[in-house]
Amino acid sequence: MSANKDALILDIQRMSTEDGPGLRTTVFFKGCNLVCPWCHNPESIRSRPDLNWFGHKCIGCGICETACKQGAVGRNAGLVKFNRVLCKACGDCAEECPNGAIELKGKLMPVETLFRELAKDRPYFGADGGVTLSGGEVMLQAEAAAALARLLHEAGIGVALDTAGCYDFRTLEAALPYTDLVLYDLKIFDPVEHKRIIGADNRLILENYRRLIQAGARVWVRTPVIEGATGSPANIRALGAFIREAGVPDKWELCSFNNLCRDKYERLDLDWQYKNAGLTRKEDIENLRNIAAEYVPCAVYSGTTV
Ligand code: SF4
Ligand code: SF4
Repeated sequence: MSANKDALILDIQRMSTEDGPGLRTTVFFKGCNLVCPWCHNPESIRSRPDLNWFGHKCIGCGICETACKQGAVGRNAGLVKFNRVLCKACGDCAEECPNGAIELKGKLMPVETLFRELAKDRPYFGADGGVTLSGGEVMLQAEAAAALARLLHEAGIGVALDTAGCYDFRTLEAALPYTDLVLYDLKIFDPVEHKRIIGADNRLILENYRRLIQAGARVWVRTPVIEGATGSPANIRALGAFIREAGVPDKWELCSFNNLCRDKYERLDLDWQYKNAGLTRKEDIENLRNIAAEYVPCAVYSGTTV
């Protein structure tokens, strides 16, 4: 576990209140091994930097076309268009763009440097807050994550780890001694549905949850409420029965859906099947919360509803 290791980071979000207790700084690791179609962080999925294009800032000067040595910038109906297969993510176009219309999201940072950056926020952490390591899937960069968690822990800063649990449990073990709270996603209980919708088997995820509880970790389970995918009474019942049997967490949070991230998809030239989906209805999520609480009394819901 080396603090000289680089971490590929998407972003650092300060004063966060949704990624664990208290006021927090959330660091988003880049790269994910699941493909949840409702993902709110599409820029975090690929394990490499991604170009974001802000169309409203583009003045059509064409400087980016000249700057790109890979021939990855062209035009489509007069608008700048990136060939993301040819793009080598060198960032030359972003550097040359006179109007800040291109941004390269994702950069390598030595863990030690990242730690120093995060530790600057210590004044607002208070007794409950701290740093949340999120993603993407933070455990795809397990060595860097464990090294960072250790530095934070040794500096007396609370560490939460936000993970979807789809990997060998040994991957997580190195970080656990330095982690105060694990935010653990459980989305769909039925393995066939999980595979169909998210693209991966969930047996490992369920088994890792069980092992996490057995290891004595403090856990908050999080379930996004997505109509037609996770947000059915049957799924919440099945997850509830599993959680009750495998071990009750400190909290089970049902998180409402919003489509505020749709601009992120546009900046990456991606279509998003949920771009016009509405907010979760309050009565629906309350109903699901009541079902969840039949199994796990600590069930709550969060987020904006209509
Ligand atoms: S350099 Fe920037 S402003 Fe000029 S065409 Fe490219 S994206 Fe648009
Ligand atoms: S990041 Fe580099 S390779 Fe990609 S489009 Fe811009 S200049 Fe071309």
